[in-house]
Amino acid sequence: MTQKVLGLSLFVVGCVLFCQAGATAVAPLQIQLDPALSQDLKANLQSDLARLTQWSLQTNPGGNFQLVFGATDNSGVVAYLNDRIHVLLPFEAHLENRIRFQGQPLSSDDSSPGDAPTDALAINVSLRLWAARLLAATPLGLQVGSNILPIDSIRIGAVQMGPQYRADDRDTPVRRATMLIHEARHSDCTGGLKESVIAQLPDSLNSTLCGHLHSPCPPGHLLAGLNVCDDHAWGANSIAGTYATALYLNCTNCDEQTRQQALVEASDAFDRVLPLEDLQKGHLPPDMSSTDVLWGQ
Ligand SMILES: [Zn+2]
Repeated sequence: MTQKVLGLSLFVVGCVLFCQAGATAVAPLQIQLDPALSQDLKANLQSDLARLTQWSLQTNPGGNFQLVFGATDNSGVVAYLNDRIHVLLPFEAHLENRIRFQGQPLSSDDSSPGDAPTDALAINVSLRLWAARLLAATPLGLQVGSNILPIDSIRIGAVQMGPQYRADDRDTPVRRATMLIHEARHSDCTGGLKESVIAQLPDSLNSTLCGHLHSPCPPGHLLAGLNVCDDHAWGANSIAGTYATALYLNCTNCDEQTRQQALVEASDAFDRVLPLEDLQKGHLPPDMSSTDVLWGQ
């Protein structure tokens, strides 16, 4: 999608703040911070995003990390995020009131936003925005500061920060980084959508891999009944787990505490992948493509 420079664009340049001598510089991470975010939250996010460029990874060629991120090192992680997350929004953002048609508000709903989950670190709202665009059958945009991002794909990459996101001791830096990797996968419409699915939005999305929606964890699972598991091999949890595993095994400049935190996150992520055996056997290579619409029945 077209990149617009917003009032508070964030260009985190590898090695400016954190790189150690000898670490490989990676391309800038380009994620815009919505001007409505609080100053504290902006500072926390800038710090967390900088860390994502700082951790230096070197994985084995041909491994799952390369299949997912397209490179054996951290440059793949940055490219993956740049493709899938373009703006971070505050929890209080009222999405409906930010949608624009020909530059004008589509609606002026005065009710409180209210429908974002309060127990999440963050939630990717790209599919929701794109579904609104498909249902409207007319070009729409998302107001971010003084600019309007075209909602022309699920890759609009809009992630709303949850009230639980805190850069303090309650969550580790690795957990917050892994969360962003996880949320980014929800910006992929793997396999596209058929007309028959679009006609039945949004309920029909559950039968597709568009947005990689989660499934309820089954009885007996530690998180039984919660809608946080994946019924397919390469959903958001597997991608996050692959990243955390690399951070644990293949980080060349991480301290031991970071590596141990990564092990915890990798274990938690893969616990939520129901067809884990298929994934471990390598029968199902990840499809990291995204298709806007696959017309036809
Ligand atoms: Zn998710």
